[in-house]
Amino acid sequence: MLAVGNPVSRPIQAHINLSALENNLRVARRAAPSARIMAVIKADGYGHGLIRVAEALSAAEGFALLDIQDAVHLREAGFRQTILLLEGSFNAGDLAVAAQYDLACVIHSAWQLAMLDACPGREKLDVWLKVNSGMNRLGFAPQQAVQAMEQLRRHRAVRGITLMTHFANADEARGIAEPLTLFNDFAAQYRVARSLANSAALLRYPETHGDWVRPGLMLYGASPFPEIGAQQLGLQPAMTLRSRIIGVQELRAGDEIGYGALFRAEHAMRVGIVACGYADGYPRHAASGTPVLVDGQRTQTLGRVSMDMLYVDLSKLPQAGVGSPVTLWGEGLPVEEVARAAGTVSYELMCALTARVPVKV
Ligand SMILES: *Cc1c(COP(=O)(O)O)cnc(C)c1O
Repeated sequence: MLAVGNPVSRPIQAHINLSALENNLRVARRAAPSARIMAVIKADGYGHGLIRVAEALSAAEGFALLDIQDAVHLREAGFRQTILLLEGSFNAGDLAVAAQYDLACVIHSAWQLAMLDACPGREKLDVWLKVNSGMNRLGFAPQQAVQAMEQLRRHRAVRGITLMTHFANADEARGIAEPLTLFNDFAAQYRVARSLANSAALLRYPETHGDWVRPGLMLYGASPFPEIGAQQLGLQPAMTLRSRIIGVQELRAGDEIGYGALFRAEHAMRVGIVACGYADGYPRHAASGTPVLVDGQRTQTLGRVSMDMLYVDLSKLPQAGVGSPVTLWGEGLPVEEVARAAGTVSYELMCALTARVPVKV
């Protein structure tokens, strides 16, 4: 039978392991001992829950996120760390709120500089000037950043200035050499704090550590590198998505399963139906063969993932049946492996967990 606490609840649960978050922060600290840590907790702490993540990571010197409401929420919950708005402010009203709550703002575009100029009050803000070192997403090209720096340094509303950039290929073979030189050549003109490194750069390139590192992914226990496992890096998964088998089908040779009949049994076999689908955040694009644990043993998904359920192969697990525990990713099954099978990255899987999945801490 389904051994769940509440007889009416669906058995899916996301388990958040707070001590894994603490462990992973220590890994970041050991790898970048001279830098302050700006823990990136955007997207609801990469799907792990904003406040619980901030509490577990409270040894970090700062938190970075996007949503000003979340930032205010953190302040009101009593967090005294530096809080950085990674996309800065979207309107003048938010700038005033940022000043009121002592939230540091990224300035990445001329329109944000202009908004700062139009700021009426006596607010004082810490700003992080974003330099575009080749990713061409946000930020001033170095030539334009010179002028932006001039403006910021003279600005009545500006208190501290930090220079930052973000790498496009820190986790790839391409690396960071070119953008690092570009950024350093620019930053050499100023005596201000610097921040460059995401998780991949933090782990791989000590020369990027600067004054503040900005790890996200690694804090949640996933590896940024395709060729190095999280365990090898000393990281522990912070999220484990678990459910159970709620039905079993005995297939005969030639039987098909699921929408589109994507899987056809070549011989008689048992398949389990798991209470987990894309409406829970499991990727619909995970093809047959995506790894999954049933009763702690590795098997694979079969057929197309539906909204609320998916199929698993029980042919080699005769003991498994209704009620057997299933791990979709996390402890015992790195999220990176599931992501790869679904043609995506672990970031997306963690963030995609939906609100209907109960969380257990
Ligand atoms: C998301 C983000 C990070 C964290 O990146 P990870 O790869 O998750 O470590 C760092 N800096 C900026 C600007 C980001 O947007």
